[in-house]
Amino acid sequence: MRRCQALVRLAGSALGPESGGSGGKHAAAGAASLARLSSTATDCQPPAFVFDIDGVLIQGRRTLPAAKRALAKLYSPDGSQPLYPLAFLTNGGGVTECFKAHQLSEWLGVNVQQSQVVLSHTPMRQLAAMYADQPVLVAGRGQVQDVMHRYGFRHVLNLRQLARAMPAAVPFHEDQGLVSGRTDLPCYTKTLKYGSPEHPISAVMVLTDPSDWYRDLQLITDVLLSRGMPGHTSPPDAPPVAVYFSNPDLLWANEFSAPRFGQGAFAACLETLYEKVSGQPLNAHFFGKPHAAPYRLAEELLLAQAAALGLVPPTAEAALPGLDSGAELAAQTSTAALDGIPWPFGAIYAVGDNPAADVRGANAAGSPWVSVLVTKTGVARQNCAVDCAQASCKVRAAM
Ligand SMILES: [Mg+2]
Repeated sequence: MRRCQALVRLAGSALGPESGGSGGKHAAAGAASLARLSSTATDCQPPAFVFDIDGVLIQGRRTLPAAKRALAKLYSPDGSQPLYPLAFLTNGGGVTECFKAHQLSEWLGVNVQQSQVVLSHTPMRQLAAMYADQPVLVAGRGQVQDVMHRYGFRHVLNLRQLARAMPAAVPFHEDQGLVSGRTDLPCYTKTLKYGSPEHPISAVMVLTDPSDWYRDLQLITDVLLSRGMPGHTSPPDAPPVAVYFSNPDLLWANEFSAPRFGQGAFAACLETLYEKVSGQPLNAHFFGKPHAAPYRLAEELLLAQAAALGLVPPTAEAALPGLDSGAELAAQTSTAALDGIPWPFGAIYAVGDNPAADVRGANAAGSPWVSVLVTKTGVARQNCAVDCAQASCKVRAAM
C-alpha cells in the first residue's frame, strides 16, 4: 500500500495534472489512467520507473525543481537508494554512462549509478563485436572517441582528424583548432592509414548531434561513395559502408522557446544528399528511442535492480546468471536472458516529453510499459493523437 501512496503522491504533487484547453480531455484521462495503473501495480506487483532526461528532468542546463521532488519521493530519505527499480533512458549522449550517472546525481540530489543509465549510444556497444578491429569513423560532439574506445572499438577516426588530413575536401570548413594554434591532434589517416585502400573505413557511427553539419555531411558522403577510402578509387567489389545513428530524434527541447533540430534532422540531410548524388538509398541503421534496443536494455537493468531489491523470485533469479549482483549491469546488452522470466513489475512507467520517441517507444514496447507524457517543459505541449501517451502530466517548471 505504501508503494501505491508514493505513486499517487508522485503523480499528484510533483507532476501536476494537465488541465485546460484541448489537452484537458487527455489530462483527465491521463491522471485517471496513472492512478488506476498505479493501483493495479500496487495490488499485484510493485512498479518500476524509467525517466527521459532532456525536457523532463532538465531544460538545457537547468534542473527542473519538480524533477528533484519527484526523484526524492522514489529514493530513500537520504537519497542513497532507489525504493523501486529505476532507470534513466535518454537519446542524449556524448559521455560515458559513468559520467552521466555522476551528472544526474549532482543535478537531482540522489545517488545514481551507471547501472541505471542507458544513453542513446549504449546499445551500440554490441557493434564492437563486429567492428572492434576495423577502422570506424565517429561523428558527434562530446567525448565520442573516448566512448567508442570504452565500448571496445580499437581503431576510431573522428571527422576533425579526417578533415585535417584532407583539407581540400572541405574548402569552406573553418578549423577552429588550427586558428587557435592547436595542431597537436593525431592524424590517423597519415600515421595509421585509416581510410586508405589498405585500411578502409568499415562503418560510420554518429554518436551525438554533430555541430559542423557542412564538414560532416561532406566527409561522411565522401566515405560512403568511396567505400571507406575517401580520395581514392575503390575496387568494384569493395563492401559498402554502413551508417549507424544513435537516435532518430528530429527535434529536442532545451531552454529555448521552440524545439531544436536533433540528430534525426542531420540523418535526413545525409539520406537526401546521399540519394541525390548516388541514386541509391542510404544504408542507415538507427538506435535510441523509439527503437526496441534501448527498451530491452532498460528492462535488463530494471530486472537486475528488482533482483537486488528482493522482488524477483529465487527461481527466476537463478535463471538470470549475472543479473542478480547489480554490478556492471550497463555492460550487458543481450536480451536473451529475459525470455520466459515473469515480470516482477506491475508497470514500467516511462516518463518522457517527446511523443515520437518516448511515447512511441514505450507503447511499442508493450506491457508492462506505460507511456507517460510530460508537457510544457519539453517537446510536446499536449498529448498527441498519433503517438498518444497512456497518461500525461504537466510539469510545474517554475516551482
Ligand atoms: Mg526528452
